[in-house]
Amino acid sequence: MKYNDLEDNYRHKGLRKKLVEELRSKGITNEAVLEAINKVPRHLFMASGFLDFAYKDQAFPIGAGQTISQPYTVAFQTSLLDIQKGDKVLEIGTGSGYQAAILLEMGARVFTIERQKELFLNAQALLTRLGYHPRFFYGDGYEGLPAFAPFDKILITAAAPEIPEALIRQLKTGGILVAPVGDSDTQEMTRLIKHSKDDIEITRHGYFVFVPMMKGTSNNGNGKGA
Ligand code: SAH
Repeated sequence: MKYNDLEDNYRHKGLRKKLVEELRSKGITNEAVLEAINKVPRHLFMASGFLDFAYKDQAFPIGAGQTISQPYTVAFQTSLLDIQKGDKVLEIGTGSGYQAAILLEMGARVFTIERQKELFLNAQALLTRLGYHPRFFYGDGYEGLPAFAPFDKILITAAAPEIPEALIRQLKTGGILVAPVGDSDTQEMTRLIKHSKDDIEITRHGYFVFVPMMKGTSNNGNGKGA
C-alpha cells in the first residue's frame, strides 16, 4: 500500500537532514544536489511501512523486480551531470520517479522513459500529485527520444552493457551523458562528454551495482531485474 496522504512532517525532514550530512561525509560536495535531496520526500516514493528505510543510504525494492537507487548513487550521478537550471535532461529508467524529482528540484526540464508499465503508471501518478512535472514516456530507453533531441544531459539509471549509440547521437555538442556500464554483476560509472561528433571524452568514476537495462518494453514484469 502506498501513502495516501503524502504527509511530510518534521520527523521526515529531520531524517532528510541527517541523510544529507551522511552524503556530505561520503564525499558529495555539490550544494545544489544536496539541497534537492533535502527537499524531495523520498519516503513517499516507497511503499508505506518502510519509513525506517527511506532515509537510510540504501537502495530499496519498488516492485516489478526494480529498485529505487541508493541516495549516494543518485547524488553521485547527478553531480557528474553538472546540472544547470534549464538543462534539458533525458533520464532512462523512471523507476520510482525519485531521480526525476531531484533533477526537477534543480531546475532541469526532464524527459523520462520507463519500460515497465506498472512503474511508468505509478511514477506518473505520484510525481503529478507531488507537483513534479517531467514528460513521461513508456518505451525502450535504448532508443532514446529522437523526436525531442538534442539533450544537454542524458542519465541512464540501469546497468548498460555499453553506451547506446542512439543516445550519443541525441546528446548536444558540449553535452554530458552519465551511465553505469558493465555486466549484471558490477558496473563502472562512466561519464561521456561530447566535445564534438568526433571528439568524445570518456572518464570512469568507480564501481556500482544497478538493475540491468533491458531491451524492449514489458507489461507483465518479464523484464525483471536482478
Ligand atoms: N531512476 C530510478 C531508478 C530505477 S532502477 C529511481 O529514481 O527510482 C532502473 C529502472 O530502469 C527500472 O525501473 C527499469 O525498469 C528501468 N529500465 C531498464 N531498462 C530500461 C530501458 N531499456 N528503457 C527504460 N527503462 C528501463
